[in-house]
Amino acid sequence: MSLALLSDLDLSARNTLALKARSRFGISITEATMLPRLFETAAARGLPVRILGGGSNVVLAPQFDGITALVALKGKQVVASDGDASIVEAAAGEIWHDLVRWTVEQGLGGLENLALIPGTVGAAPVQNIGAYGAELADTFDSLVAYDRQTGGQRTFSGTECAFAYRDSVFKHEPDRYVVLSVRLRLPKVWVPNLNFAGLSELAEARPTPETVMNRVIALRTSKLPDWRVDPNAGSFFQNPIVTLDNAAPVLAEFPAAPNFPQPDGRTKLSAGWLIEKSGLKGFRQGPVGISERHALVVVNHGGAVQADVASLAAHVKTTVHSRFGVRLHEEPIFL
Ligand SMILES: Cc1cc2nc3c(=O)[nH]c(=O)nc-3n(C[C@H](O)[C@H](O)[C@H](O)COP(=O)(O)OP(=O)(O)OC[C@H]3O[C@@H](n4cnc5c(N)ncnc54)[C@H](O)[C@@H]3O)c2cc1C
Repeated sequence: MSLALLSDLDLSARNTLALKARSRFGISITEATMLPRLFETAAARGLPVRILGGGSNVVLAPQFDGITALVALKGKQVVASDGDASIVEAAAGEIWHDLVRWTVEQGLGGLENLALIPGTVGAAPVQNIGAYGAELADTFDSLVAYDRQTGGQRTFSGTECAFAYRDSVFKHEPDRYVVLSVRLRLPKVWVPNLNFAGLSELAEARPTPETVMNRVIALRTSKLPDWRVDPNAGSFFQNPIVTLDNAAPVLAEFPAAPNFPQPDGRTKLSAGWLIEKSGLKGFRQGPVGISERHALVVVNHGGAVQADVASLAAHVKTTVHSRFGVRLHEEPIFL
């Protein structure tokens, strides 16, 4: 049985950059059993399929000549509990921040540093979301994904996800898996993770998961432009991890430049700092620009399309490279 597809779907309100974007067809995935039929239908009609969650980490093309599958699988619950941890399972279409808040309300700590990250649960493993000294991998247990190659479901452990800084196996095989649900392992004995500027002050105040979550929300709200007001995709560039040789000119000129030594001997520089020191904070090019509030954020000032964002990103990369010899890489995915 084929599926009822929506025609000429307008996705302008389905991406946080508010780019003008349409898809020839669209479908809301409310049950995992729809997926085999979706891919059969697409193959029969010769149409490509792309997966969209909350649209908060994508730079959408103006026209996609295929099927955009909107992941709308719902449900979250505590599915198991052992001596050390509670296992929480959430369906891929759940809103990530709602899950964080819900776990805190259940008295479960572990996700609070990742509060207020936009998007869905299913996309969280794709780039191993991270913020305020934490990342998804810290509390990840396993996930279930639909494998387009085999037509079956597969369970992934953390090791199989190959999590790294803003990276996972799902980024490298973008057309293969659809994440259906994610399990998180939340510790029974909660130890706050306060190793981040703005959080360490909480150490003396007997913090709870809720107070840490509220502090993270306050910090994020004060620092990042609201995508509902100034459409954006959060951090637009990854913090570059470079060799010490590559970082040397930066650190020689600016000994206090933010840099974070990595276990492999390289160091992580701050992309936002490099962009700001390159004089690009607040820079505008056509309908897009670098936020005046945060140099890592690309903002759509109105009416932008994918090419405007790509052109600005190229300008930023060239400018930073000629100023500091450091190559930046985009964080959002061009779809
Ligand atoms: C204001 C703002 C702040 C942000 N802050 C942070 C931050 O602090 N840390 C951080 O890590 N990120 C941050 N982000 C980026 C973004 O929120 C995350 O990457 C988020 O996980 C994306 O979720 P989404 O549902 O919107 O994914 P989408 O943007 O819809 O999709 C992103 C990618 O994942 C794929 N995908 C989506 N769902 C699935 C699925 N179920 N199965 C397989 N593939 C899927 C898509 O095909 C696409 O390639 C921020 C974004 C914004 C706008």
